[in-house]
Amino acid sequence: MSETKKTKRVVVVETSSEESESDSDFEDSPTYKKKFGKNKKESSSEESNASEDEETKRKTKTKKKTVAVVTPRRKSTKLLERRVFTPGVAQRKAPVKSSLNPLVEAQLRLHVSAVPDSLPCREEEFAEIFGYVESKLQEGTGGCIYISGVPGTGKTATVKQVIRYMEDNRDEFPDFNFFELNGMRLTCPEQTYVEMWRLLTGEKLVHEQAMKKLDTRFSTPAPRRTHTIFLVDELDMLCKKKQTVLYNIFEWPSRPQAKVVIIAIANTMDLPERDMDMRVISRLGFNRLHFEPYNQQQLQCIVSSRLEGLEVFQSDEIQLVSRKVAGLSGDARRALDICRILAERCEREGRDRVTQVDVLKVHREMFTSSKMMYIRTCSQLEQFFLRSMVNEFYKTGVEETTLRNISIRFDETCASEGVKSPSLHGLVSVAVRLSSQRLVLSEDYRKGLDTKLRLNVAFEDINFALNARNI
Ligand code: ATP
Ligand code: MG
Repeated sequence: MSETKKTKRVVVVETSSEESESDSDFEDSPTYKKKFGKNKKESSSEESNASEDEETKRKTKTKKKTVAVVTPRRKSTKLLERRVFTPGVAQRKAPVKSSLNPLVEAQLRLHVSAVPDSLPCREEEFAEIFGYVESKLQEGTGGCIYISGVPGTGKTATVKQVIRYMEDNRDEFPDFNFFELNGMRLTCPEQTYVEMWRLLTGEKLVHEQAMKKLDTRFSTPAPRRTHTIFLVDELDMLCKKKQTVLYNIFEWPSRPQAKVVIIAIANTMDLPERDMDMRVISRLGFNRLHFEPYNQQQLQCIVSSRLEGLEVFQSDEIQLVSRKVAGLSGDARRALDICRILAERCEREGRDRVTQVDVLKVHREMFTSSKMMYIRTCSQLEQFFLRSMVNEFYKTGVEETTLRNISIRFDETCASEGVKSPSLHGLVSVAVRLSSQRLVLSEDYRKGLDTKLRLNVAFEDINFALNARNI
């Protein structure tokens, strides 16, 4: 019921008000029109026409007219041409205000939450994802694509850019709905069903029921169904021993009736081989895309494009930051963060330009602080412990936790890395070592599993230090 409501809502957004009475959004889609032309629409209106009054006739006329107008104006060859373009959108929305201090403007533009107008250096990945999704919509089928890459390589940003582009040019594609899920925000893998069903229909069910409903929906033919695109971000978090959830996520799109496209994002390239069983891998097929870490030139280009028109940094300083970050991780988020901190400091100190000395100072503080060095060189179990604390925070959104909660996450981390979990005594000694380094703040460990814990270092720094080690 609410599913119908959702579909209707999309129709209203996408078409003129006269079309709200149309048979379905599917019939309004270019794919449908290509296949069936106007016939079905005409015949359906004819069926109900016998006793219609003048008003209805007028609407029917308008409807026919609209069909002619919304027939795809561009052929798919034009869409293909478009794929080779830079995924840039229009010009910067807000031009630099003359009254705004350039250092303040630089900080705003460099903030990782700022949505850039374009994503330089990800043109090929954009084209690949766009091409895949668009082909599924045009074919009227479904499928899944697996995207991997270390943090900060633009995976989420590129997928969102593709969807933004498609939403801005909706008249060129068959109608679709887009929904987003994040493995980090789900309390357990089965919660995926609950969330998917809620997003599709607005109805909240327990996971067993939601799974059944999804399964029925995706195996029931419904020619009028609109395509659904799901972005499943942070898929790593859904990888548990029992892989029914993953299997279903990758199996449903293969059903011809489902019309579901899954875009799955994970950090690990070989997650399917390492953690998924053969059933799941075979469902995934070969639709994989790996985002390489950015190199120095790419990072330089990313930072410079955000600072276009501002003379706060010289290219030498940006080059230096890019070289340092590329050498460690190739994480764009990190490069943007460092430059933002540099601009912030300059502003605080009343200077108007960032110098090389500033860059070196910030770099030393960020990469070679004793805490960062410790994280990068400590034992594997200590790293697992820190990672478990980060995961626990992402799951619950609460910074303070207990040793009991961490022990659960710790076991999960050990299992996914194929390492045997230590005993409780072993776990406590790992925690004590981290507390002695002031990386973890804790109560007295005599409380055992009820000991309260909190990280004393930023989550991003832990992620960064741990990932930097693997590069
Ligand atoms: P994670 O695995 O941690 O989720 P990710 O690969 O999804 O990382 P994003 O969130 O897409 O990374 O990107 C991190 C930040 O870097 C965002 O602020 C994004 O706008 C910026 N960024 C990444 N790539 C580019 C690019 N090519 N051009 C401009 N900004 C970029
Ligand atoms: Mg991401």
